[in-house]
Amino acid sequence: MASIKRGDTVVVISGKDRGSRGKVLKVIADKGRLVVEGVHKQKHHQKPTQKIMQGGIITKEGAIDASNVMLYCTHCHQPVKVKRQMKEDGHSQRLCANCDTVLD
Ligand SMILES: [Zn+2]
Repeated sequence: MASIKRGDTVVVISGKDRGSRGKVLKVIADKGRLVVEGVHKQKHHQKPTQKIMQGGIITKEGAIDASNVMLYCTHCHQPVKVKRQMKEDGHSQRLCANCDTVLD
């Protein structure tokens, strides 16, 4: 979970959205869930508000479990495992476990 950040490109590896790829829009760290662009679209009823005069049904991405996704490596062109490596400045960076490309 800690290895995925907002803005990452991930691939859904299980559930009905399996195989979908998208950008992480939101990380809900305390629940271990993510919102991924174009994945797990759900319909919501929008009530009319002062800003939006017309109510109706809007489609919006729902949160999915972080364990259902893997980081996508643009070098390997596939979902990959991530490994962490400590840099000299004491911060860790993420590397693709396949090809050692730095993913941060
Ligand atoms: Zn890779």
